[in-house]
Formats: sequence, C-alpha cells, structure tokens
Amino acid sequence: MIGLISATAAGAAARDRLVAAWPARARVYEGPVADAVRRAFAECDQMVCFLATGAVVRLVAPLLSDKGADPGVVCVDEAGRFAVSLVGGHAGGANELAREVGGLLGAEPVVTTATDAVGVPGLDTLGLPVEGDLAGVSRAMLDGEPVVLERESPWPLPALPPNVGSPAAPGAAVVRVSDREREPVAREVVLRPPTLVVGVGASRGASVEEVLGLVGDALREAGLSASSVAELATVDAKSEEPGIVLAAARLGVPLVTHSAGELAAVTVPNPSGAPLAAVGTPSVAEAAALIGGGELLVPKRKSVRDDGLPAMATCAVVRRPARGRLAVVGLGPGARDLLTPRATAELRRAAVLVGLDQYVDQIRDLLRPGTLILESGLGAEEERARTAVAEARRGQAVALIGSGDAGVYAMASPALAEASDDIDVVGVPGVTAALAAGAILGAPLGHDHVSISLSDLHTPWEVIERRVRAAAEADIVVTFYNPRSRGRDWQLPKALAILAEHREAGTPVGVVRNASRPDESSRVTTLGSLDPGIVDMMTVVTVGNTATREIAGRMVTPRGYRWQKEAE
Ligand code: SAH
Repeated sequence: MIGLISATAAGAAARDRLVAAWPARARVYEGPVADAVRRAFAECDQMVCFLATGAVVRLVAPLLSDKGADPGVVCVDEAGRFAVSLVGGHAGGANELAREVGGLLGAEPVVTTATDAVGVPGLDTLGLPVEGDLAGVSRAMLDGEPVVLERESPWPLPALPPNVGSPAAPGAAVVRVSDREREPVAREVVLRPPTLVVGVGASRGASVEEVLGLVGDALREAGLSASSVAELATVDAKSEEPGIVLAAARLGVPLVTHSAGELAAVTVPNPSGAPLAAVGTPSVAEAAALIGGGELLVPKRKSVRDDGLPAMATCAVVRRPARGRLAVVGLGPGARDLLTPRATAELRRAAVLVGLDQYVDQIRDLLRPGTLILESGLGAEEERARTAVAEARRGQAVALIGSGDAGVYAMASPALAEASDDIDVVGVPGVTAALAAGAILGAPLGHDHVSISLSDLHTPWEVIERRVRAAAEADIVVTFYNPRSRGRDWQLPKALAILAEHREAGTPVGVVRNASRPDESSRVTTLGSLDPGIVDMMTVVTVGNTATREIAGRMVTPRGYRWQKEAE
C-alpha cells in the first residue's frame, strides 16, 4: 500500500492524480499532517508526501528504525516539479517510486543514492537475493577499490564496474555468486542465483511441515542455500496437494508440475514401484527435479517422522545448468522518447551489447559502465548474430540491438536461427519505421497493410516483384523499406509502376525520411507525381490503397466501408 499525504490544494490535486492511477495501491491519509505521516509510516510499504523535504525529514526522523524495514518515502514539491526519493531508496523502493511518480506527474525524479547516481548497479537491485555486508561491499565498489568476483555459479549478471573482478587479495571486498552455504566472511556479499530445482513427491494428506522439514534438511545437509531454490517441481496429479502447494508458497517459489508420462521418460537413479502404482511414473521427486537437465545434488530421500509412521514425502535436489540470456531489443526509430522503458531496462541488464556501430551510438549513454560493447559495421549481420548467441551460450547476459523493431528486417531472425534451446531469449518490441512514419503522415495504415523491403540483397527481385503485384491486386496499403540506395535505383519506380496498374495516379503516397530523428522530413504526394530522387535509404515510402485520401494535408486510409456500423 502507498500512503499519500498532502497539505495544500495543489498537493491534493497531484495526490488525486496518483489515486486515479493506482486505484488499488493508494491510500489517502487526511487530517493533521504530522499525524497522517505517522500513521502512513506505520501502515504502508511506501509513501508519497506532497510536502517540503525539510518537513518530511523532521516528521519521519524519529520513526526510522532500519533500512530493511522502513517504508520508502518520496516527496513531491508544491509545484510538482520534483519527485525526491528521500528514504529507503533501494530496499524501500523509493528510487523506483520516485521514477514512477515522476512519470505520472511529469516531475523530475531525484535519486541520490550513490550506486544509482553513478550507474553502478546496486547489488540489491540485480534481482537476486543478497546476503552479507551489502553496505561495505557497495562502498568498495563505488570507491573504485579492488573487489573480487567469485562466480561459483555462472549466472548471467549485468555489467559490473571495472574494479569488480580484481584478483583475490587479503582483506579485499568480495562479491560471491553462489548457491552454496558457507560461514559468512567479513566484507563479502553473496548473491543467490536461482539455480536449484527441488523435486517433491507426497502421499495424499502429507503436512506442509513434513514437506518443508524434508526440503530444509536436504538443502542443509548438502550445504545449499534455500535462497537459491528456483522452483518446486512435482507431478500433475499433485498440483493441488496442500502440503506441496503450501511448501512452495512458504519458500516463495513457483510450483511447476509435469505429466506422469513426461516424468516416466526421465532416467533416474532411484525408480520405485510405489509412485508407479499411485500416479503412473516410477519417479516423481527425482524425475521432476531432473526433467530440465542438470546435476543431481541430492538423490531421492524420504521424510523422517517423529511418530515413527511411514514417510509421506520425498524430495530430490538438482542444480540446473546455467542459462545465458539473450535480449533482442528494438531501439525504435531514433528519438529517445520512442525507446521503451523495457528496452532501457534490458540495455542496463546486459553485460554484453552487440550491435551495429550507429545503433550503439544511439544508446551508449544508457549502458552500465563496464558493459562489453561488440560493435561492427554494416553488412556483418550474420557475424553479429553468431557473436550474440555465442556470448549468451557462454552464460552472459547479452543485448542484441536493432533500430525500430529488432524483428523487422533486422537481427532477431538470424540470431534465433543460430540459437539453441540452452539459452533464454527475451524479445523487446520497438516502434518500427512504418509505424513511426504512419504517425507522422496521419493515418495511412487504418486498413490492411504490408511492409515490403525493396532490397534485393537477400531476396531475388522476382520474389519481391511477385509480392508487390499481390499487394497491388489485393488493394493493400504498402510500406516500402530499403526503398532506394545509390547502387539500387530502378526498383522503386518499378514497384510503383506495378501498384499504378491497380491504383489511380492520384493515390496518396507518404515519404518519410529519418522519422523521429533530428533531421526528420516528410511529405504527402501521389503515385503519379512522386519524384524517386527524394527517396534514399533513410526513408520509408507508404502507398495508400484505392480508398486512401489526403485530408487537410494528412494521409488517411478509411477503416473500411462499414466501420461506422461496427462496434469499435
Ligand atoms: N528494423 C528496422 C528496419 C530495418 S531495414 C525497423 O523496424 O524500422 C532499414 C530500413 O528501415 C531503411 O532503409 C528505411 O527504409 C527504414 N527505416 C529505419 N528507420 C527509419 C527512420 N527513422 N525513418 C525512416 N525510415 C527508416
């Protein structure tokens, strides 16, 4: 819950905008401000105060106890210009909240915690559980001291600053990435990657205590950390077995189930007759843990009951193979505000960035210091794709970038053609040139439309021509990508001539060059009078269908003949 406190009419107006944006998350605290702040502090995970920072500092200071437990506090000034993360930047989520409030109110987020301010990832923001001397090691990272990185688990991490990864030295700060329990060491932070899969089986009615006790013992005796458990896995037939469902909930991990047939196909060291009779597979715990591959760290074991009754639960623990991460990220047409927040997050999540040099320049300032940048020139597509996949297979977090949408005439297909199923792939859509141009031209894509690339580098001209003809005959709006280059000048006139066999000379045509870039230009002309000389490789050309009109200088394709009668 987010508590909202305001003192003035302007504050209340801004507050109400947050209430409208967060109907389920926001709670308004009315009444005398000092009292409202105290109540919100006690009851909420986060608060936004439409008050001066000084006032809030005085009010919350006596209430602060510990940064792991205190709510995150954000202050917004009277004019709504700044959203200041005041207290609980990381653990309390105030930095994120300040950014979110900033987005909603048009205020500048103000974040002063050191790790965020200098682009060093806060060790507690990497998405992995953290243990140990967070403050000390973060300080060392920021101060540029040598910090040793011990990657016992090759889990893909974002870029870390260059001083992280120094050779081991006595007394040096250490970041350890590991699923193993070990006595805590001074000046050490342990990141817990989600490496462990715990397979469980249980007879009907097994208690959650019995299941959890068994899992806890198994992990402890094998020297493994419960914080690294990624999932509990079992057979479909047990998907609602309360002891198992509750155990997953208490461990805070998902319960994943597999069919008996899938489990029966997994080779396990300790098959047995009992589960075969009960649920149709000779192994539940071991098979469910091993189904995704990996190393069996704890073979099947049974619970031990104080009352001497037969065991009702089994478990097995597997360390799954580390998986690299390939994010295929579309950067949009050029303008920074057409780059999606998700794309930004993936760029900052990456340790390795692969892309065309001119696209790297577009986002270089967003990368974390220490990101390995593998840039190459035009034409090296296949090599870029191979490099990105190879880095991901080495266990790295990789971002492969492309302009517009990375799946449209871009890197996603060559990369995924190379990629095997041993890496995770995440796609981030981007605003492709046809859409960016459409928004500039008006509404040219209001009915069925296609994109056709006129580059015959990878596609024979006969194929391109056949597609243009099909679009012409089907009366579909066409956007031409790669329409014309210095060495390739007859294709666009030829394609337009084919369309002109089926469309009037007066059909509107939109030409947009450098959409959303500083030197953007556009014009609406017609099929009969387009001068191909104004078209180059920075341009897309959108040709309307027979219903497209130029209205008030804008290109408009009606939604259809009956759209007014249809429900939207
Ligand atoms: N993946 C890109 C397209 C790559 S093909 C996307 O989704 O937009 C390259 C062609 O895209 C260029 O020749 C040009 O036709 C078009 N293009 C890309 N960005 C553009 C922009 N900002 N303005 C106009 N055309 C653009």
